[in-house]
Amino acid sequence: MNMLQQSRNQVLAQIESACVEAARQPDSVQLLAVSKTQPSAILAEMYQAGQRAFGENYLQEALEKITALKELEIEWHFIGHVQRNKTKPLAENFDWVHGVDRLIIAERLSSQRGEQQSALNICIQVNIDAQDSKDGCQPDEVAGLVAQISQLPKLRLRGLMVIPAPENTQAFADAKTLFEQVKAQHAHPEDWDTLSMGMSADMQAAIAAGSSMVRVGTALFGARPQKD
Ligand SMILES: *Cc1c(COP(=O)(O)O)cnc(C)c1O
Repeated sequence: MNMLQQSRNQVLAQIESACVEAARQPDSVQLLAVSKTQPSAILAEMYQAGQRAFGENYLQEALEKITALKELEIEWHFIGHVQRNKTKPLAENFDWVHGVDRLIIAERLSSQRGEQQSALNICIQVNIDAQDSKDGCQPDEVAGLVAQISQLPKLRLRGLMVIPAPENTQAFADAKTLFEQVKAQHAHPEDWDTLSMGMSADMQAAIAAGSSMVRVGTALFGARPQKD
C-alpha cells in the first residue's frame, strides 16, 4: 500500500470512529479531499486509492488540474472565495461550489451554468462565529438567501458551509442549529442534506456536532507548501 492510500485509510477510520462515538451512521459523513497546491499526479494517485471528491481553492490552479485529469470521474468542489467576475468558469467546470454568500453570486452561477449541464450543487457559506476577516453571510441572512437561491433553476442548494476559528467547537453546534432551522424556507427541502464543516484538525468535533462533509487536506496529503 502506498502512503496516500495509507493516509486515506487512516482518515476514513477517524471519520468512522467519530461517527460511532456520536452514534451516527459511518456513511453519513463524506470525505472531501482538499487538494489545493498538490500537483495533478498526486490527485491521480489519491484517485487510484479510491477518492472521488476533491476540493480546490484557487481557480486557475484548479482549472489546470480539471483539464489534466478530465479522463477521471472526479467530483470537483470549489471551496475558495467566490469572486463575482469569476463565476462563469466556476459554473462551467465544477460540480459543487461551497462559498456562495450573496444572492448575486448564486444568480450568476445559475445563469452561467451550461444548458446541457445538470444543476450545480451549492452551499451557502455562513460566518457563523462573527469573524472580522472572514467571508460568508451573517447567520440572520441565511433564511432569506435559502428562500431565494432555492428557486434558481440551474442550482441545487444543498446546505451550509462554515469555517469557524480554530478550537471554536460551539460554532459547529450553532451551524447545526441554523442548518435545521432554515430548511423550512427551502423550495425543495429534500435537497437540503449537506453541512460542510470540519478540517484535519477538528473533524472529530465537527462530526460530533452533525457535519455531513469534512474537508480534509493536511491529514491526507501532508503539510502544504505555504502559498500567499
Ligand atoms: C485548506 C482548506 C481546508 C483543508 O484544511 P486542512 O487543515 O489542510 O485539512 C478545508 N476547507 C477550506 C475552506 C480550506 O481552505
